[in-house]
Amino acid sequence: VNFVQKTSLIKRFQGLTFAFCFLLLLVAAGTYLSSQTFLVNLRDLNDVNAVTDLAIQGTENIVSARLTLEKLNSTPNIDSKQLAPVYFASHQQADSAIEQAIKLTSKFPGTAHLLKDAKTSLEEMNKLSQHIFELRKVDSPASRELIPRDLLLVKQFELDSTESLRGVQIAMRKTGNEIFSSVYHSRFLPFWVALILAVFFSGFALFLGLSSTRRVERSLLNLLEATEKVAGGDLNYQVKILSSDEIGRLSMAFDEMVRSLALSMQQVQKAVAIRDEFLSIASHELKTPITSLKMQMQFARLMVNPKKAPLDLEKLGSVLDMSNVQIDRLTKLVDDFLDVTRIEAGKLTFDFVQTDLSKMIQEVLNRFHDALAAAHCEVKTYFPPTLSVSCDPFRIEQVFVNLLSNAMKYSPGKLIEVSLDHDDQFAVLSVKDHGAGIPIEKQKLIFDRFERVFPDQNVTGLGLGLYISKQIVEGHHGELSIISSPGQGATFQVKLPA
Ligand code: ADP
Repeated sequence: VNFVQKTSLIKRFQGLTFAFCFLLLLVAAGTYLSSQTFLVNLRDLNDVNAVTDLAIQGTENIVSARLTLEKLNSTPNIDSKQLAPVYFASHQQADSAIEQAIKLTSKFPGTAHLLKDAKTSLEEMNKLSQHIFELRKVDSPASRELIPRDLLLVKQFELDSTESLRGVQIAMRKTGNEIFSSVYHSRFLPFWVALILAVFFSGFALFLGLSSTRRVERSLLNLLEATEKVAGGDLNYQVKILSSDEIGRLSMAFDEMVRSLALSMQQVQKAVAIRDEFLSIASHELKTPITSLKMQMQFARLMVNPKKAPLDLEKLGSVLDMSNVQIDRLTKLVDDFLDVTRIEAGKLTFDFVQTDLSKMIQEVLNRFHDALAAAHCEVKTYFPPTLSVSCDPFRIEQVFVNLLSNAMKYSPGKLIEVSLDHDDQFAVLSVKDHGAGIPIEKQKLIFDRFERVFPDQNVTGLGLGLYISKQIVEGHHGELSIISSPGQGATFQVKLPA
């Protein structure tokens, strides 16, 4: 069982547990509510029985009251004073039974008017009964004639009254049946309600669980696909981000990681390309002086052949001079490589001593006299007789030589102006030429390794001189900068802490 399946199972189990608990809760609530309704129904059923009993009791009392009156009529010698309490007791009981029934039936519509009719008929019957008792006291022929007629009417009212009470009984039986059947049918109601709700909620919980697992599953599969693509070398592939949750964030982080990997790859590729270019330039640069040196040596060897004419020392001297120039060139190249290696390893060190810059510059210019003449460059100098700073004289001379050589290389036949100045903070050495200058967008680049503005032009070089010079000046806590615009020449400025 893998991770996604496990999560899905847990979600499903959670959904079912939730639904089950919910069902239990609903059943409990339903049971409570239905028992409440059941109690109410039970009380109503009780009242229905009581009303029925009262109706029966009322009917019996009315009938016995009427029979008492009948007895009064059929038994001439009977004392009406004895029968009157019997009659009134029956009447009283019937009346109170109807009264009680009226009170209980207020919640059962349709029975109140029947009871009222029964009560009215009973009252009418009572009025006639009282009249009969009055007539009986007189005991005249007229009264003897009237009593049977009244009795007939009494019988009629008795029938009306008992009829109404029977109607009450029938209505009560019907109501009782209705209550019973509603109780009977509603006994499963809470269960059904609970079941339907439980099915609905458990389905909903299952749906939520499944949809969330499916989303997790899809996100993971996307991530997996992306990982495989990236592992296969496609660094441009991006994960489809489906959510902003942890997996979404993981996908975003993955994309970010791949982006930075692609960037690093680009940098590495660029570095490799620079190295390859450097190797090809370096081998070319080394080959030129070596070939030339070899030719000078072969030429010298031919000259010192004892079988040939006597040795021309002047010619030999110039051959050796030319060889020396090539050796200097080789030495300079090797020195530059070594310096770059030292800088990369952080091992470029300086021996600070108090140095007269004016003197140093003048000496370099003297040394370069022939080279400047060969390049047809006139030099103008503007500097004080002496300007002393604390620096590594060997390294600062290297910087100046590099700037002067560049001015000669890139503006042959033009004036070069060398000036030296100072303020409170810095000594400022400037080398200004009147050559082609450097485009603004390239000016920052020329201080990087192997950067050359026009690599294809005839001027040889490795693109290391300014890089090494900048590292040296910055190692002195100074600044090396350029002011130039195309066609206006270039001014390189070295600022050294005074
Ligand atoms: P290199 O001269 O060996 O190529 P540098 O680091 O000394 O290397 O110079 C880097 C580049 O800056 C040169 O290739 C050249 O294009 C440009 N550059 C340097 N000095 C000058 C200058 N005085 N005038 C015009 N371009 C220059």
